[in-house]
Amino acid sequence: MHDKILDVVIASNNQHKINEYRQILKDFDFNVISLKEANITCNPNEYGKTFMDNSLIKAKECQKKTNKIILADDSGLIVDSLPDILGVHTSRFLGEETPYPVKWMELIKRLKGKDRSARFVCCITILNLEKEPLVFIGECPGQIAFKPEGNSGFGYDPIFIPEEYKQTFASLGEDIKNHISHRSKAISKMIKYLEKTK
Ligand code: IMP
Repeated sequence: MHDKILDVVIASNNQHKINEYRQILKDFDFNVISLKEANITCNPNEYGKTFMDNSLIKAKECQKKTNKIILADDSGLIVDSLPDILGVHTSRFLGEETPYPVKWMELIKRLKGKDRSARFVCCITILNLEKEPLVFIGECPGQIAFKPEGNSGFGYDPIFIPEEYKQTFASLGEDIKNHISHRSKAISKMIKYLEKTK
C-alpha cells in the first residue's frame, strides 16, 4: 500500500482499543504507537454531538503534540429502544468509574420486554496524512444479550451478540471480533481508501 511503514499514533488511552488496532493493522504497513509510547498526554473533553465530532476533537488535541500520523476513534453502542442513553455518551453511562457488570445488568434490566436491536459504531479520524482530515465510519449491528457471557474484549462485549452469530463478542473471541467489528469495518474503509489513492 505504501513504500514504507508509517508510524501511526492511536489517540486513545484505552489499552484494549490500542491492542485491537495493533491486531487489525498487523498485516498492513503501519506501525501502531500508543500515546504512552509517543510520550504524549492527551485527555480531551469529548462533548461533541456525534461520533465524528468527538473523533475530530480527540485527533486535533493530539495534533497539538505530534507531527506523526494520528488515528483517533470515537465509538459507542447504540440501543434502538433506548435512544437517550449510550450512543456518544456510552463511556459515561452510569459514570465512568462504575464497573461494567453494573452497567450490563442495568441495560439488561431497562430492556426487559423491549426490542433488543443494537449496533456498535466507530468513527475514525486520521490527521497529518493528507491536507484534510480523513474520516471513516464502521458499524456492527446485533442484539443485546439476555445475560452477560464470555471473557474476552472489553466494555460491552459480554452483552453484545453480533448479527449472524449466537454468541457475544466476548465469547466469540478477539479473532472473530476483529474481523467483523465496527472498528475493523472502519479500518477496512481506511485501507481501501489508501490503496485507491496511493
Ligand atoms: P470512547 O470511544 O473511548 O469514547 O469509548 C466509547 C465506549 O463505548 C467505551 O468505553 C466502551 O464502553 C464502548 N465501546 C466502544 N467500542 C467497544 C467495543 O469494541 N466493545 C465493547 N465496548 C465498546
